[in-house]
Amino acid sequence: MKALKYRGPWDVELSEVPDLHATGDDDVVVDISYCGVCGTDLGIVSGSYPVAVPGVTLGHEASGVIAEIGPAVTSIAVGDRVVINPTPYCGRCRMCRTQRINHCVGKHGTESGVSYDGAYAGRYRTTSAFVHRVPDDVSLRAAALTEPLSCVVAGARKLQPPSLSAYTYVFGAGPLGLLYTWVLSLKGLTPVLIEHSAARLEFARDRLPDGTAAYASLEEARSKYFNDPAAPIDIVVDTTSALLEDLFPQMAPGGTYMSIGLKEKVASIDTMLLADRSLSVIGSIDSLHGSFDEAFHLITTGRVPAERLVSHVVPLDEFRTGFAALGCDVGARRFGPAEQASCKVLIAPGGGGE
Ligand SMILES: [Zn+2]
Ligand SMILES: [Zn+2]
Repeated sequence: MKALKYRGPWDVELSEVPDLHATGDDDVVVDISYCGVCGTDLGIVSGSYPVAVPGVTLGHEASGVIAEIGPAVTSIAVGDRVVINPTPYCGRCRMCRTQRINHCVGKHGTESGVSYDGAYAGRYRTTSAFVHRVPDDVSLRAAALTEPLSCVVAGARKLQPPSLSAYTYVFGAGPLGLLYTWVLSLKGLTPVLIEHSAARLEFARDRLPDGTAAYASLEEARSKYFNDPAAPIDIVVDTTSALLEDLFPQMAPGGTYMSIGLKEKVASIDTMLLADRSLSVIGSIDSLHGSFDEAFHLITTGRVPAERLVSHVVPLDEFRTGFAALGCDVGARRFGPAEQASCKVLIAPGGGGE
């Protein structure tokens, strides 16, 4: 089978590797249909998020069809359509036992596409607890967004809006920005989405929950959505990693600033303001207890229109085209803002049929 191997920054290639098989009693091997491109992957490829082990197969947001199962697996069968939870956790360490499975100390060696062979490949091997059967009426394309949505559900749990009328801003209309807009909207808030790229803004505007809107700048959002050029900033979700220093002094008392981008950036903030205005600065990564199931529920019930967020589907052989749609040019070794109308890009090792 083919697998997209990481060797080092800007050094990735499709390699022919041995097919995976179910060798353990509880093993499940999935023929991968789709694997979403995540900011994490592009950070690894470009060297800005240096977490992956050289030699690992990249990719973690995947769906597919069960190819093989071990003798002890009874919950699913060969041929079942499934989505993969790529973040196993041990359930025994202190982090797991204190509601922080996203920081399981046993993570190293198990994290798909980082320290464990991921799903930009013909096949992926996991165990039965980490696949969910996808209902017949839900596409495997939609199901591939379960993991990013799970991260968003986990992040949204950390936000404690003081009121449903809180002025809420989501910066960046990539998949996470759009998914945050949906999840916060389902929680009763009315977030506005802010995106500088005209192409991404246009793509996002057709895919927003009722009652929300997207604008090219904070100024435009304040004046057009809230009819107030000085509209307060109660809640910020920053998917860009870039805005803390600029926005922090503008936060309304009691406000919360959440940063979820994985770009390295050192920022300084005024700790007197932090206390005096009762502000919160928080971060979030990965899934928490039950958030994958929650995301799966939101996708399978159609509450979040996941498939509509897919802008590109490309075969595994053309992964460079998929990465380039998100601003990551592997040939030129350049990673900049996405300027085309891109959102969730799916790599299709199975060719892109269902
Ligand atoms: Zn991801
Ligand atoms: Zn653990």
